[in-house]
Amino acid sequence: MAELFYEDDADLSIIQGRKVAIIGYGSQGHAHALSLRDSGADVRVGLLEGSKSRAAAEEQGLRVVTPSEAAAEADVIMILVPDPIQADVYKDAIEPNLKAGDALFFGHGLNIRFGFIQPPADVDVCMVAPKGPGHLVRRQYQEGRGVPAIVAVEQDATGKAFDLALSYAKGLGATKAGVIKTTFTEETETDLFGEQAVLCGGTAALVKAGFETLVEAGYQPEIAYFECLHELKLIVDLMYEGGLEKMRWSVSETAEWGDYVTGPRIITADTKAAMKQVLAEIQDGTFANTWIAEYKAGLPKYNEYKNADADHLLETTGKKLRKLMSWVDETA
Ligand code: NDP
Ligand code: MG
Ligand code: MG
Repeated sequence: MAELFYEDDADLSIIQGRKVAIIGYGSQGHAHALSLRDSGADVRVGLLEGSKSRAAAEEQGLRVVTPSEAAAEADVIMILVPDPIQADVYKDAIEPNLKAGDALFFGHGLNIRFGFIQPPADVDVCMVAPKGPGHLVRRQYQEGRGVPAIVAVEQDATGKAFDLALSYAKGLGATKAGVIKTTFTEETETDLFGEQAVLCGGTAALVKAGFETLVEAGYQPEIAYFECLHELKLIVDLMYEGGLEKMRWSVSETAEWGDYVTGPRIITADTKAAMKQVLAEIQDGTFANTWIAEYKAGLPKYNEYKNADADHLLETTGKKLRKLMSWVDETA
């Protein structure tokens, strides 16, 4: 079972005694910078000159300097820029400014796990990854609560890296909810697998295939949209609240029976074999290398996929239907 840590396990004074640089001020960056600052840590934000995020950070009373200046000033450096550019930001701004005993922090393990960033042996390398989008992390903190986080240490140069990471997590409010210990390898591989096989890739493909099946059989796209996409939220909300059990308690017995007999005909042994192949390609670095190469090439295939789905009947139908539902589409 996972090891869990709470308020009393973490010492906030550790992070309060350090100089923290938050590189990037997006979804995670703003939540980390503001909550650590409000927890009494000495925070500066690192952004490029002309960065779109600069005004938002300054408006909140944060001191904004360049990523190089932030890394030079600080002894805890959290990298919260998009994953595919982290290696470049590290090379340009952070590596030249690292001192022995500094700590390099991440919100996701991809660049360390696959070797795109290789820190020197004399710095701590830690991860603090809240299990929620940055805006929820910040809102929970402001309400005196916290979003659970996972914490990992890849390299413990000082012998105190884990205590530092727990202290950082406490500064985000995460120890109020609970912090789970993991490794960079486990976090990175399960995160990539979950989003590809189930959350984003698996779900999007399932919804599209179901919608297409109904439309190709002559049913109206609007009806197919409701059955295969819109209602998914109601089902997922029930699972989120009480697992499969609550979902099955809430739906009709007919739906529950169909769940048992049809689910395994859709997600078959072949699907699971494909999932194992996907996991293997994540583990051996194939996925990460392909993705970084695609990013560096200017995202040609990414844009192709994106455009193809934008024109899909599922999407054009949904755009019209959501306008009928003011509680879904606030522009309606
Ligand atoms: P965002 O895309 O929201 O934020 C990007 C930020 O980085 C912006 O402030 C952007 O500035 C800045 N930036 C871009 N390029 C540079 C650069 N060269 N130098 C300095 N700053 C730059 O990122 P996320 O918050 O989504 O992701 C950050 C990390 O957190 C990633 O490792 C991600 O995997 C992880 N994570 C994200 C979660 C989430 O909820 N989104 C959840 C858990 C982990 P500008 O305004 O100028 O573009
Ligand atoms: Mg992810
Ligand atoms: Mg129905």
